[in-house]
Amino acid sequence: MIRKSVIIIGAGLGGIAAAARLAQHGLHVTVLEKNTHPGGRCDRMSRDGHHFDTGPTLLIMPHVYEDEFAGLGASLHEMLDLQRVDPTYRLVFDDGSDLALSSDMKSMHDQLEAMEPDSFHGFLRYLDEGHRHYYKAMQSLVNRDFRRPGEFFNLRNLPLLFSIKPFSRHYNHMAAYFDTPRLKSAFTFQDVYMGLSPFEAPATFSMMPYTEIAHGVWYPRGGMYCVVEALMEIARGAGVEFAFDTAVKQIELNGIKAKGVILENGLRLAADAVLANADLPYVYQDLLPMDRQAEQLAHKRYSRSVISFFWGIDRPYLELGPHTLFLADDYKANFDEIIQDMTVPANPSLYIHAPARLDPAMAPTGEDTIIAIVPMGHISERQEQDWRQLIQQARQAVFRRLALLGITDLEAHIKFETCFSPPSWRKRYNLVKGATHGLCHNLTQLGYFRPANRHSQYHNLYFAGSSTRPGTGMPTALISARLAAQRILDDFGVVAM
Ligand SMILES: Cc1cc2nc3c(=O)[nH]c(=O)nc-3n(C[C@H](O)[C@H](O)[C@H](O)COP(=O)(O)OP(=O)(O)OC[C@H]3O[C@@H](n4cnc5c(N)ncnc54)[C@H](O)[C@@H]3O)c2cc1C
Repeated sequence: MIRKSVIIIGAGLGGIAAAARLAQHGLHVTVLEKNTHPGGRCDRMSRDGHHFDTGPTLLIMPHVYEDEFAGLGASLHEMLDLQRVDPTYRLVFDDGSDLALSSDMKSMHDQLEAMEPDSFHGFLRYLDEGHRHYYKAMQSLVNRDFRRPGEFFNLRNLPLLFSIKPFSRHYNHMAAYFDTPRLKSAFTFQDVYMGLSPFEAPATFSMMPYTEIAHGVWYPRGGMYCVVEALMEIARGAGVEFAFDTAVKQIELNGIKAKGVILENGLRLAADAVLANADLPYVYQDLLPMDRQAEQLAHKRYSRSVISFFWGIDRPYLELGPHTLFLADDYKANFDEIIQDMTVPANPSLYIHAPARLDPAMAPTGEDTIIAIVPMGHISERQEQDWRQLIQQARQAVFRRLALLGITDLEAHIKFETCFSPPSWRKRYNLVKGATHGLCHNLTQLGYFRPANRHSQYHNLYFAGSSTRPGTGMPTALISARLAAQRILDDFGVVAM
């Protein structure tokens, strides 16, 4: 019997995981990746003994990884040497005071009560709500495939409207738990992972701080790229073929179906199905003929972007923990400047990662490896953005923030620097507008309203990754891979193993 063939565009997490699943079911799978190596946004860079995870640095929602690895016949904990990071983050406020987020309830009690009397009680109630939101949303929205409108719009889903608070604004909703603005910020900043400001995000997203505290933030020894290496091992073991340095220029159609792809070098490759893991809006706009759907996608809401600095440092800064987040008191102004003005905020909240605190091998002995991430707006079509000036502004903001911790000489100890800005994200991974998290997760881009895993017109063209269902982030990319692969297997009439 001739095996059905699938071409996958992109070796991001969604592409590799979908490839492995399809090959394990007997399909002939070829993955075409424009870059020299797999991983997409979950990328790695090394220089002079310094190792940088250039994208994700936080492994959250570990149960999703466990389930998805198990679904691929592998054990997450056997393939990766995972350690739990606790405190998860050290939050540092504008006056230098701090809060170490932890699953140690005694520590949380003492820290929270010192900031606001009776706030520990509010925190426990908030965790309880986050717990409900997490399990309901995972079961009813995230882990689900909505192939027909009736699967979303039905009476069984109606209670969701009340139970996961989609219509309450997250930040406003925090008044039910805390009075202190800093505590409201401490338990809503995670909305940026969804590409949203807490001032517009649904209160449903209390599930994120909940999972970080209850299930933990984890780190694979060797860095986040080990997740990519583990998935590659599974995919190669299943017989998936990979071609790197191989950019797709166009998806070839025959009216109602995808016939295959045309590469940048002009080569044509045919397949029974095409699965696009490259950013979905880019696929509609650049690899398919321009149509109404592509135009509509251009008007959707995109997540913000970031300016990231990767520094090799000639001495260690042990006062920096693995994850430090400077949270600005002008929290709302920060989001307004990012989302409306599409710039670097005047006094940005920003994040510093020191991976050598978790794995000494990430830096040479006696030195340090530091990543600084400054959120900013994505690429704008409305206004000119002076990247050189914005990068300088972001760089100075990092040094100003570090001074709050008494670190005033870091700049003098930088051996080398690499910087990624929104145009870099666009160029490296074909992310529309350089938006690091793809389409954002506002109400009209969630669940059934998010672009589907299968094209509405070309029924053998599928999507897996951040801007399709269920959404952005590494664990979600793995779920997206499963949903898309299952759809292909069902359409091919392959019985699941
Ligand atoms: C700075 C940053 C920090 C992040 N932090 C976290 C975090 O801490 N935790 C977390 O869970 N998530 C985080 N994320 C999000 C996470 O990295 C992504 O959601 C996830 O990796 C996306 O996977 P994906 O399957 O959508 O594929 P992508 O990573 O988008 O990969 C798609 C692949 O397609 C390739 N491609 C594109 N066009 C073509 C073409 N024409 N031909 C061939 N190949 C093509 C690209 O090169 C890329 O390799 C972060 C992202 C960024 C950028």
